[in-house]
Amino acid sequence: MRIANLDGRLVLLSGERALDVERASTGRFAPDAQAVYERWDEFTEWAAGQAGDGDPFDPARLGAPVPRPGQVFAIGMNYRSHADEVSYEHDGFAPPVFTKFPSCITGPYADVEHPGGSVDWEVELVAVIGRPAYRVAAANGWAHVAGVTIGQDISERDLQHEGDRPQFSLGKSYRGFGPMGPWLTTIDELDNPDDLELACAVNGEEVQHSTTANLILDVPGLIARLSAVTPLLAGDVIFTGTPAGVGLARTPPRFLSPGDEVVSTIAGLGEMRNRLVNGTSDS
Ligand code: ZN
Repeated sequence: MRIANLDGRLVLLSGERALDVERASTGRFAPDAQAVYERWDEFTEWAAGQAGDGDPFDPARLGAPVPRPGQVFAIGMNYRSHADEVSYEHDGFAPPVFTKFPSCITGPYADVEHPGGSVDWEVELVAVIGRPAYRVAAANGWAHVAGVTIGQDISERDLQHEGDRPQFSLGKSYRGFGPMGPWLTTIDELDNPDDLELACAVNGEEVQHSTTANLILDVPGLIARLSAVTPLLAGDVIFTGTPAGVGLARTPPRFLSPGDEVVSTIAGLGEMRNRLVNGTSDS
């Protein structure tokens, strides 16, 4: 099953068609894409009985499939290749956890305001919580995931690192710094959810390419790690980390400018296209 957020309304996707959930369910389910995760089991049961209806749609109208997550977890240094390129030594410790503040979430084709500074790309698999998880064992981790989608953990490196006083969460939370989409794909649609090829291209040039099989802590491992401390709630999201190839680690470093286009792909999950644009005022 694939679901999406089309013009702010929850839709069920079938091929190139989108079925409006609120109308098709005669009001049983709300039009708000965020609300569906609270009733995930009930919704998936209903959705399984819907036969490939719907209308053609313009992908440019898609918003984030999880538009207002209560909690956004993000994981640093979760691919060995990326830890190595930025000379990060794990020393036996688990990858660091930070947040992207939820107001940075935006759609899969949204323009992203460039705030100045050293803006960088990070393609990531995003896992979305469908069943609350607290003190869950890794072996049961996937059972708490509604589905997965593509994310960009856009980062402004000057603020993120600010000398030797890191501000990870702020540097990764400028408005629009969390594109997600283009839709949510459930795990049963994937041959192997633990081995998804992911890539990022800037202006047509591939800059990142790896597979989620290279994650140090995989999705079930992350759910165990996070839920050992804090309850994970329906509709929360986890940005699982980025592989090698970020601009910061290049020689010389390379950062994004207004006009640059970032294309993020994960095999089986689709593609996002986000263009950096000149920042507007404080609107
Ligand atoms: Zn990241």
